[in-house]
Amino acid sequence: MCFVGAVAFDEGDVALSLRKVARKGEHRSHKSAGMVTYDHSQAFPHLVRDLGMATTVFSPQAMEELQGSIGIVHLRWATAGTLERANVHPLTGKFQGKPFFLVHNGEISFRRALERRFADYQPTITSDTKLFVALIEHSGKETFEEAIRYALGIVKGTYSLIILYENTIYAARDVTENRPLYIGVKEGAVCIASETIVFRSLDIHPREAKEIKGGELVVVHGKDLSVEWKTFQGPLGIARTPRPCFIELVYSMHPASIVYGRTVYKIREELGFRLAQIWKPKADVVVGVPDSGVAAGKGFSRGSGIPYADGAIRYHQSGRIFYSDIDERRDMYDIKYDPVLEMLEGQRVVLVDDTMFASETMQAVVEIVLEAGAKEVHIAIPAPMIVNPCFYGTPTSSDHRRLIARDHKGDKDSILEEISTRFGTRVKSLEFLPLWDAKDAVVNTKPFVQRHEKLTTTNFCDACFLGGTRHIPVDVDGNP
Ligand code: SF4
Ligand code: MG
Repeated sequence: MCFVGAVAFDEGDVALSLRKVARKGEHRSHKSAGMVTYDHSQAFPHLVRDLGMATTVFSPQAMEELQGSIGIVHLRWATAGTLERANVHPLTGKFQGKPFFLVHNGEISFRRALERRFADYQPTITSDTKLFVALIEHSGKETFEEAIRYALGIVKGTYSLIILYENTIYAARDVTENRPLYIGVKEGAVCIASETIVFRSLDIHPREAKEIKGGELVVVHGKDLSVEWKTFQGPLGIARTPRPCFIELVYSMHPASIVYGRTVYKIREELGFRLAQIWKPKADVVVGVPDSGVAAGKGFSRGSGIPYADGAIRYHQSGRIFYSDIDERRDMYDIKYDPVLEMLEGQRVVLVDDTMFASETMQAVVEIVLEAGAKEVHIAIPAPMIVNPCFYGTPTSSDHRRLIARDHKGDKDSILEEISTRFGTRVKSLEFLPLWDAKDAVVNTKPFVQRHEKLTTTNFCDACFLGGTRHIPVDVDGNP
């Protein structure tokens, strides 16, 4: 789960705008950050990249050195490939003696097969994305665009990809549309990004943003800011069907980002509403686990008629716990959440969160709410159970974290039993939103806007959910 972005201006440096764009994308990752700009007058690229957050890596001093009116940026949470300095994006390669820079969100699943392709050359491949670099470098093609097309015609997996070569940006999205990618254009500026929330930082209205479709290659020319929309041919045998990641909608994306014509907030609110249509515990208040459970909590309150209460406050400097190491996470919950006592004392509380991975967050919040004096707790998850690891770019494999629903083989009562071990009978019930209802809430609630007719309830990627199906192939041994 990474963030990719690009900015091109007709004049002036882009570095500070790229930093603003990256700050808006930090909810997607903050393990490493990198940026490269190209100074056309000097024909020279400037690069900064390191482990750490955008605020640290993109220091004022670093920004001063990044001259140029075109550039790309990346924030990384490694899903395939180790988290080490050598794998921090932008990755660099050379084509006809000149450097190119590449950022990627997604996961290339056939990395072992491709490693075999380079048996004689043996590039140092410590991350999946390096295959793109190796393929472009060794394409033997005459032009850079042909070299990109060669690589895109071979690589299988999920990718939203942005490449900078000299004064030109190339952005491509794989046919599954598994990872998001948008473009916003205004007089004198072009911006490409994983989510529409970033466009406001360049005064581009988020509703003006366009989704880059699967199989499209968008070329932005720095010299006149012209934008060319092209298509590319992926590997043979890959169905051209969109499979957007459902977890992006329920968990990864920023609530203020727009997808399919409405905000992610409205989608999550609808998911909460739908859960209340099929399950209504006897309770006095609904509390959304801040921040990501708030929209769903309000929807659950609307659907159930149970009043909403801001029973827990989130301390915003604590960051996203998902990215933290296990030991670090335990302390962070205490710092992150505080109860609002009057909202909870003596109350029967429905706690609503957006998803459940290991259930650590929910257990921490249950503890805080009960200690604050709540009488009992019901747990509402307006998303399906996550029972399978992801091979496409969301860090939910067993290497990354535990999945409680997988351990309990999708048995809800057994999950509840584990969660309530620490709290006894005061944790009363647990419910998830079934997969069909979740997808229906997204696709069949107006407005639902898309640039093509292909997306329906049937073709979201739902491979990690109970009842989901794996449609995108993975490597032969089933590992990312
Ligand atoms: Fe998203 Fe789940 Fe599909 Fe991975 S398996 S891409 S997390 S829906
Ligand atoms: Mg959360």
